Amino acid sequence: MLIAHRVALDPNNVQATYLARAAGTARFAYNWALAEWKRQYEAWQADNSLPKPSQEALRRQLNAVKREQFPWMLEVTKCAPQMAIIQLGQAFQNFFAGRARYPSFRKKGVHDRFTLTNDQFSLDGCRIRIPNLGWVRMRETLRLTGKILSATISRVADKWFVSIAVDTPDSSHLAQAENQGEVGVDLGVSALATLSTGEMVPGPKAHKALLDRLRKLSKSLSRKVKGSANRRKAKAKLAKLHARIAAIRTDAMHKLTTDLTRRFHTIGIEDLNVRGMMANRHLARSIADMSFFEFRRQLEYKAAMRGGQVVVADRFYASSKTCSACGHKLETLPLSVRKWTCPGCGVIHDRDVNAAINLKNMAVSSTVSACGEEGSGLRPKTKMKPASVKQEVSFVPV
Ligand SMILES: [Zn+2]
Repeated sequence: MLIAHRVALDPNNVQATYLARAAGTARFAYNWALAEWKRQYEAWQADNSLPKPSQEALRRQLNAVKREQFPWMLEVTKCAPQMAIIQLGQAFQNFFAGRARYPSFRKKGVHDRFTLTNDQFSLDGCRIRIPNLGWVRMRETLRLTGKILSATISRVADKWFVSIAVDTPDSSHLAQAENQGEVGVDLGVSALATLSTGEMVPGPKAHKALLDRLRKLSKSLSRKVKGSANRRKAKAKLAKLHARIAAIRTDAMHKLTTDLTRRFHTIGIEDLNVRGMMANRHLARSIADMSFFEFRRQLEYKAAMRGGQVVVADRFYASSKTCSACGHKLETLPLSVRKWTCPGCGVIHDRDVNAAINLKNMAVSSTVSACGEEGSGLRPKTKMKPASVKQEVSFVPV
């Protein structure tokens, strides 16, 4: 399984300057190659005897001219321009396969990054060695074992990180899940998650105050004169705050998915129809906040590492509207209704706990029927889609 471990770097000033220059070189090479690609493609359309553009040819082309035209490129690792053009090739592959839009030019200050192949760096405990630069301190050691494939060094606001991609042997380096059986998880609007056990996992605490500050800062930014030093400063401040909020969310999400996969071997979740929900403006924000896809991605790879499984309900499965006690299905249940009484059996339900219990039952019955036994008659009849246990690449070096 391909996974990546992201670690903060502690570069000194000289090193930070080098990292910025390497990222700048990568961006320049990417943009140069993209412009060349367009030009060569148009030339090929006009005259089919000319070669079609390719990342291999563009890399050769850049190598042939860089000494003369871009001598400053030689000051940083040769991986920076080379890997950027390989990534452009991947971006075009994704475009041709219909998975992504046409590649666009990289912008300065937006996801600045460069990638090193595994023969171009080495790790030693809490440090990483980068060509032409030497050792840079990492905040922690690499926690994964397996074959190291690449390292991508990137900047978020004013901080540098390295993301090390590792091909790990399957479910061998994490302890198996504790045997707490199955669980259903309802990702919520009010709480981060509600479990079928009745536990509520609140969202990260620091969050709300920071969101208020975010609103204030973006307002103050909009009042600053364009091009002024004050605007630049306010922008940097805002970027820092965004990064901090994202880090808090990521941390909360990792804690939740680690805890779940550590305790339960089978986890039932919903397959949210995110497109449909985004149409609902009230929900859009919270769904984006919860980043449901990230939740599912983490659950799936962490469960696979512990030998567990994730069962995803059919996207039309009404986990909220169905009574988990008798199976009675409501016609409607507005989002504002947090508690309801089942007209079928009289049980009083907490909306989220009920949904989580249904998801748990769904997961249980799907694993039972997968073994060829019959599920209990009370369980909701729904089409189940087992979690893809395929070797998912949870890290894409683009
Ligand atoms: Zn009922």
